[in-house]
Amino acid sequence: MSGAADVDCDVLVVGSGAGGSVAARELAAAGREVTVLEEGPRVSTEDLAAAAPAESMRRLYRNGGATAILGTPPIAYGEACVVGGTTVVNGGLLWQPSAALLDRWATLSGYGGYRDDVVGAHFARVRKRLGMIVQEHGDGNADSRLLAQAAASLGWRWQHPQRVVRGCRHRNQCATGCPSGAKQSMALSYLPDAEALGAVIEPGVRVERILHDGGGTALGVAATGPDGRPVRYRARTVFVAAGPVGTPTLLRRSGIHRRAAGRRLALHLNLRTVARFPRAVDATRGTMFTAQVQEHSALGVLVMPSNVTPGGLGAALAGRDPGQVAALLAARAHLGMFTTQVRVQGTARISAVLGGSPLLRHGLTGADHDLMRLAFRRTARLLFAAGAVELLPPTSSAPPLRSEADAAEYCARVRPGDWEPVSVHGMASCPMALPERGGVVDDRGRPHGFTNLHLCDASVLPGAPGISPQGTIMSYAHEIVARHLEST
Ligand SMILES: Cc1cc2nc3c(=O)[nH]c(=O)nc-3n(C[C@H](O)[C@H](O)[C@H](O)COP(=O)(O)OP(=O)(O)OC[C@H]3O[C@@H](n4cnc5c(N)ncnc54)[C@H](O)[C@@H]3O)c2cc1C
Repeated sequence: MSGAADVDCDVLVVGSGAGGSVAARELAAAGREVTVLEEGPRVSTEDLAAAAPAESMRRLYRNGGATAILGTPPIAYGEACVVGGTTVVNGGLLWQPSAALLDRWATLSGYGGYRDDVVGAHFARVRKRLGMIVQEHGDGNADSRLLAQAAASLGWRWQHPQRVVRGCRHRNQCATGCPSGAKQSMALSYLPDAEALGAVIEPGVRVERILHDGGGTALGVAATGPDGRPVRYRARTVFVAAGPVGTPTLLRRSGIHRRAAGRRLALHLNLRTVARFPRAVDATRGTMFTAQVQEHSALGVLVMPSNVTPGGLGAALAGRDPGQVAALLAARAHLGMFTTQVRVQGTARISAVLGGSPLLRHGLTGADHDLMRLAFRRTARLLFAAGAVELLPPTSSAPPLRSEADAAEYCARVRPGDWEPVSVHGMASCPMALPERGGVVDDRGRPHGFTNLHLCDASVLPGAPGISPQGTIMSYAHEIVARHLEST
């Protein structure tokens, strides 16, 4: 990188999302001089309030929100590229990983230090710092009330969601950035704290490579600055939290664990079902959702409403017959949209890095297809119990379903390539596990063989938790930093 400007730092943090922000704040609190490099822009609550949804999608999301994971079916994967990372566009849900899950991961990974006593204590800290609340129904959210009543009538388990919001105004725009500043994204919580403790955040800086001596010592990073010029940051310690796709991409571009990094990206898939009710549900009124059905969580399946916005509804109906779309839009006050989240076993992989960008492919399995069919049938039962008279399944070419028998027939006929899934939860692309168990990082988040390079984001989770992951990611990041501080 000839002609690159040189900057000297103490600790570098790459990426300012769920993992990177925790690292920045905790390291700064321990007196370290921290510089955070973030590819995306800094966006204020006022900017979010003033922007139209399409503008926010382009500005806040990587690839405008539609990174393709190729395969059968193709998966639209969404993640942010902004100061605060994907927490700026997420729903603010915060769930604690169960002791059973952490025990399973400990057995799987060969590392016993991230069990409930440790992770639970960090989760309690995160919950307190972000001000977690239980989101009750309140005004609106008729779709959530119907879902909760249906679950109760079937004897199924459901819960109000736990969210990190302070005074949610029910503006229903979580996924394009909270316009009221209620959602406690990293941009409004850990990052301002980190700055108050002396950390410096540099937006618009894309890290291209991690510089290292080939013998396990990181020297810093090579980056492109906001003006497009190369910059080289030298550092004593480097924390990488570029997200579940960005982190393995960076490792591969830097010649670090090129074969193992990004080989197995675990995913939760979302299947979207539009339901028509005989009475108006006004699903645009209310916050994101206020009931999650957890009856099938042991299978990795959760069902919840998804906040209806005019644009989201339009996108959900876009592939359908024009006459059908016109009729549905005329009845839009009667429509709700519901998400079935499925933890699949098949994983995606970075099959190449082309011009700096990853090419992603997945290998969903027959068992995943069966689980998606089962998950959809349970969703259909729930929605008919909620009073829905018509369901549009997550296949644009499928006809509307008017009974459980129709849903069973749809499930019998649907082929793997017919599903139209999206994913907003990627994890475990550089898992924390012993090398002989396929691990990329050790129990301090260091790529095996490295001394002063740590990963601390979704990529290090040993697997897919089956719950919204940010609470688990932040708790892991806390422990990775705590272990680093103990040892230095
Ligand atoms: C619409 C949506 C809703 C969601 N809802 C929830 C929810 O309610 N609850 C929940 O728990 N989870 C939710 N998630 C998922 C959750 O937000 C993510 O799992 C989490 O933010 C991942 O944390 P991370 O630190 O690994 O990565 P991110 O938060 O994605 O942060 C990575 C950061 O690194 C930056 N970066 C990447 N590459 C580079 C580079 N080369 N140089 C410099 N910077 C770089 C990125 O721009 C980004 O800002 C949602 C996600 C989406 C998309």
